[in-house]
Amino acid sequence: MKEISRIKLAYLPTPVEELKRLTGKLDGPKLFIKRDDQTGLAFGGNKTRKLEYLAADAQDKGCKTLISTGAIQSNHCRQTAAAARKLGMDVILILGGDEPEDPEANTYLDVLMGAKIHWTTRDLIKVKLEEVYQQAVEDGLKPYMVPYGGSSPTGAVSYAYALRELLEQRTDIDWIVFATSSGGTQAGLHAGKLLLDSDVKILGISVDEPKEKIQDTVSGLAGEVCELLGDPREISPDEILVNDDYLGGGYAVMGEAEIEAIRLFALEEAVMVDPVYTGRAAAGLIDLIRKGYFGQDEKVLFWHTGGTPALFADKYRRKLLNF
Ligand SMILES: *Cc1c(COP(=O)(O)O)cnc(C)c1O
Repeated sequence: MKEISRIKLAYLPTPVEELKRLTGKLDGPKLFIKRDDQTGLAFGGNKTRKLEYLAADAQDKGCKTLISTGAIQSNHCRQTAAAARKLGMDVILILGGDEPEDPEANTYLDVLMGAKIHWTTRDLIKVKLEEVYQQAVEDGLKPYMVPYGGSSPTGAVSYAYALRELLEQRTDIDWIVFATSSGGTQAGLHAGKLLLDSDVKILGISVDEPKEKIQDTVSGLAGEVCELLGDPREISPDEILVNDDYLGGGYAVMGEAEIEAIRLFALEEAVMVDPVYTGRAAAGLIDLIRKGYFGQDEKVLFWHTGGTPALFADKYRRKLLNF
């Protein structure tokens, strides 16, 4: 694989562990975990890897301010703020939701890291983003637009390298299961699989979008990642494995399945999964194991993509305490 411009922000390689107690509890295939919740940058997560390449691109272009957008508890925005501060850049975030009286969890961390935050409604995010970006240009802030979820080819390429990292740690994994949303993580992993000629199966559990939409986004983005890495491929949407059976009550709504998964991972493994992304993917994984989806002698790796600060947001904490 060709190497592209990168700034080191993450502690790599992230550990791979066997989940022995959880495997025993579920009485299914052997389970493993890849700890991208431990990438080290301000509570970590999958966005750290993407930002290593996005921040490098920003600096190569002479930019001085990172701008991005997301939901109120956006992990991506928290990680963008962290990358900016660590590199001595400024950061502007446009968050979709009502401005909280008392910022908590990810938003609290955004404030601690000095992010300048604009609040807007979800449907006006794009308009606001454009307006804030233009203003930043006029103010001479040299802004760089970090794409939504870090999911451009430049961000997604990080997960092609991440798959290479995993294959250097273990070659015996049959399935990788993880939370998928804006598609960059899955696109990178899929591109990595093709370029490294691996037969690992890469199954994204959708957090918020219908399967077909994710397959379209991911196949397109994975094609662009292959091209960026100098090895273009034709990728069809059908080869992208996505399960959208676990959308529950919608984005960021923590239901009983997520609560069970959060508690099970905490009780059996002392691994924290989050209410929005990894808790939902873990709930899907648990259900698929119970339904006998995986072969009993297969090895299944849960790729933990982070998001744990959201556990401290009141609306989730209260529900988890009272369950
Ligand atoms: C952003 C995010 C995801 C989804 O990754 P995509 O590359 O957007 O599909 C999964 N888990 C966590 C914790 C995230 O913050």
